[in-house]
Amino acid sequence: METPNKSSTVISFVCRGTLVHSTPEEALQVLEDALLGVNSDGKIAFIERGEELQKLSQIFGFDPSAVTQLEQHEFLMPGMIDTHIHASQYSYSGTALDMPLLQWLNNYTFPVESRFKDLEFANKVYTQVVKRTLRNGTTTACYFATIHTDASLLLGQIANDFGQRALVGKVCMDRNDFVKHYKETSQESQDETYRFIKELLSKKYPLVKPVVTPRFAPSCTEALLAQLGAIAKNNNLHIQSHISENLEEVELVKQLFPKSGSYTDIYNKCNLLTDKTVMAHGCHLSDEELALFRETGAALSHCPNSNISLCSGVLDVRNVLNHKVKLGLGTDVAGGYSSSMLDAVRRALDSSKVLTIQDPKHKTLTFEEVFRLATLGGSQALSLDEQTGNFEVGKDFDALRVNVAAPGGPIDLIEDENPKVLLEKFLNLGDDRNIMEVFVAGRKVVPLKKP
Ligand SMILES: [Zn+2]
Repeated sequence: METPNKSSTVISFVCRGTLVHSTPEEALQVLEDALLGVNSDGKIAFIERGEELQKLSQIFGFDPSAVTQLEQHEFLMPGMIDTHIHASQYSYSGTALDMPLLQWLNNYTFPVESRFKDLEFANKVYTQVVKRTLRNGTTTACYFATIHTDASLLLGQIANDFGQRALVGKVCMDRNDFVKHYKETSQESQDETYRFIKELLSKKYPLVKPVVTPRFAPSCTEALLAQLGAIAKNNNLHIQSHISENLEEVELVKQLFPKSGSYTDIYNKCNLLTDKTVMAHGCHLSDEELALFRETGAALSHCPNSNISLCSGVLDVRNVLNHKVKLGLGTDVAGGYSSSMLDAVRRALDSSKVLTIQDPKHKTLTFEEVFRLATLGGSQALSLDEQTGNFEVGKDFDALRVNVAAPGGPIDLIEDENPKVLLEKFLNLGDDRNIMEVFVAGRKVVPLKKP
């Protein structure tokens, strides 16, 4: 027998069993009896058929008996990507869902967010939200913090400590007529954004990056929006904000920016729509505005729990996809009451079905499509798809080991099912009890290392 060429790659982990993931061509690709190897840099070194085990063990120099074998009712899937979550609002998640957006912000959100000046409080909330989302299978989170730089830096540190991939945004707002102590001057907002970016980058966290974060147009003067656009552009940074969430807000934006053609136009003029931008919601965007998203490469984060909970609107995801706008899913804690991306998957399916009830011609999203939005779609929306989002050689190994029949778990398997059925059951019925292990960049982060 010919001896295969040896690779210099050091393999740290090999897994054999069922893999499920998405590709741009296929919403769901199932690989049965696959072998996936992870190298010492946490990247996927190979994905091959199980029968290649002996050959691969020679090429990569690993012990075939050390391979982790998945059970019949287990699979590996890519980690889920929450493209929009307010870490600071986690403390009141599950409550305060009785008002529309603008009143909700003034009555619940701003008073709570102003408490993050207190680093002890911030530490408590941020530690909990990072731990909870990791256990829920969120390997990447795009976080809003608050206007407080030091607390926002602390969120970055906590995400790094627990091993979560994260974009972290210090919130910018120089306009707030209702909770007057919760805002900054334009100059403060700009200076503190610089300080936040500089200090976060200086930590050299491998998986945590800053994201420029104007809260949304009604909370910012045009001057501040333009300054933030320039900061993002000059430093090649990610940008996040909100757009067109509810109709009252859209009306307010028209009054505040009378010279702008549309809500999207305001952000675009301020250089805030780039291929590293993710805007939450977009429920009420026109087709012209979606075209501008497409043109600029900016993405949308679909947050269906929040959209329903605050009676904001129902995003027509099919229409967004038809416009070829990048789209991911978000929990939008705490406008959305659940921090679980599985909930976001279910609400996205429900919302699509509501649109079909209203118009039977509407093409309902399939669970496979929504699975893709929660994983690969999210990585594209955050422009992180070269690192994560699916199983491809060279990408970081961000994955969940799911056991659909986990003892004491929420799913009863009556008989053996095929992987597609197992995935569908997990997405609709599963929870953290089914998520046995979570990996980010090859490192096992769940079970949690810290108490
Ligand atoms: Zn939000």
